[in-house]
Amino acid sequence: MLTQIQGLHHVTSMARDAQENNAFFTDTLGLRRVKKTVNFDAPDVYHLYYGDAEGTPGSVMTYFPFPNAGRGRPGVGEVGTTVFAVPEGALPFWQERLAAMGVANIGQETRFGEDRLTFDGPDGDGFALVEQPGDSRSPWGEGGVPADQAIRGFHSTAMRLADIGATSELLRFMGYTKADSAEATTRFVRDGGNGAHVIDLEELPGAAPAAQGAGSVHHVAFSVPDRAAQLEVRKAIEDTGYRVTPVIDRDYFWAIYFRTPGGVLFEVATDEPGFTRDEDAAHLGETLKLPTQHEHLRGWLEENLPAIGE
Ligand code: ZN
Repeated sequence: MLTQIQGLHHVTSMARDAQENNAFFTDTLGLRRVKKTVNFDAPDVYHLYYGDAEGTPGSVMTYFPFPNAGRGRPGVGEVGTTVFAVPEGALPFWQERLAAMGVANIGQETRFGEDRLTFDGPDGDGFALVEQPGDSRSPWGEGGVPADQAIRGFHSTAMRLADIGATSELLRFMGYTKADSAEATTRFVRDGGNGAHVIDLEELPGAAPAAQGAGSVHHVAFSVPDRAAQLEVRKAIEDTGYRVTPVIDRDYFWAIYFRTPGGVLFEVATDEPGFTRDEDAAHLGETLKLPTQHEHLRGWLEENLPAIGE
């Protein structure tokens, strides 16, 4: 069993409208935009990163806004719900705030003894807020949400799968242990993890496969401290029979990817070097940052990418 993985690093999804996406994560949810760059593999669209003050791994929600994307169709083989942690007692504040801001499909439910507020993102993305007692992570304090109510980072993701068997085995190998199960959902926890250390697997046999589009999660990234740990994880996962990509430089972290048996794309990303690599911590996310290989596109991109506000 691996010990290098600490929990989630980031979750990356697709959107349709960049401005609407930016407004939702910064104004409505009060996260900080910590990087404004482009999709390194398709540089004519943004890659927008939202998180805490410095984009600490485990807090970072990222988006590729494709202006002409059709909406995704929910189904199995994907992440159904991305869950953020808020302090104990914060849910009534959020219920009122999200309702006042016109957020769609607000609901309440209890799962494994935790109260949660469920809601949709601008493209029908499935989100929830969960009160996580004892969460010592610091929120972004300047996003318009009082610090004692603000999002601390991720709590978990919930994956919808036709069969959870092979993915359960993979999570155990990655250092997670089964914590609980109720009805169709099995919970895995990385003990001593980074706060964003819960994964729920929802088994929905016979359900139709998801079709990816706006509002769909593209991949889930897990955190390892550094490149040495990443190479150890890469070798171990490859040795169990997975096809893993080479290490790819994403400027703010190093990445490897592999498709899991349930259909979800996993990434393992390093905590180094982080989002202050090319910007001062006081001004993260303000100007368009481009990787060296796309710097020659800057003039065209600055003219053609939509304005998204501060
Ligand atoms: Zn990623």
